[in-house]
Amino acid sequence: MTDHSGKPCSKTLASVPTLDDLVMRDVDHDCEGFGEHRICVRVEAVADLPTRFGRFRIVAFYNNRDGKEHIAIVHGDVLGGEGVLTRLHSECLTGDALGSLRCDCRDQLTLALTRIAQEPCGLLLYMRQEGRGIGLLNKIRAYALQDRGLDTVEANLALGFRDDERDYAIAAHMIASLTVGSIRLLTNNPRKVEELRRYGILVQDRIPHIVPVNDQNRFYLATKAHRSGHFLDLDGIPHLAEQDESADDLSEGQGSAGLQVDPN
Ligand SMILES: [Zn+2]
Ligand SMILES: [Zn+2]
Repeated sequence: MTDHSGKPCSKTLASVPTLDDLVMRDVDHDCEGFGEHRICVRVEAVADLPTRFGRFRIVAFYNNRDGKEHIAIVHGDVLGGEGVLTRLHSECLTGDALGSLRCDCRDQLTLALTRIAQEPCGLLLYMRQEGRGIGLLNKIRAYALQDRGLDTVEANLALGFRDDERDYAIAAHMIASLTVGSIRLLTNNPRKVEELRRYGILVQDRIPHIVPVNDQNRFYLATKAHRSGHFLDLDGIPHLAEQDESADDLSEGQGSAGLQVDPN
């Protein structure tokens, strides 16, 4: 039986001088794949991406599994890098782009990009798995359940349903494709570290990702603290978390990842 948890791509993912060279390297790339589903990815396009957080490059990937266009936002020279500060972010249209206060995804994204921009090199994988992989429609359905004030557990179960194996195999191959030697993972979730290691990614360290209270998220926190009903987690009622929390975390009533809510 073939072991799909190792580094099947290491032979074909040769080192190249620059990020741009990854596109040519991967033109014919088709490896044995990561995980049970033999997930393989290719770097398809690389471009500059100046942002309000700093200068990045954006790397667009094809994968043979989910038809989604996952990307890496890269700061500095990560090729062959060791201890590269890395964040896995799951797309949240409502939070990331629309500024929704139902979750803290945008704060987590902003903080991650800010921290990565301060490092000599770092990268953020922006995974197009809306609502932890259940899709936008189901996420809004889960929101609607919560709006009606009933069945928070069901809503959270709906939001928590995802195919972890697929998510982490794609992310692991993306990191391997960038020929990153080892990473320090920005996360509050030790399981993310375990999953990436399962696919052969060398994770040196886990760096806690705590969103501090600031002027930007104060309203979000105040809303959480003062709005009555099921959206609150101050009484241990789970809320809809989309980043860095597993269903297990939610059932333990841990509340929002890293957010320190002052009930006063
Ligand atoms: Zn491959
Ligand atoms: Zn969100």
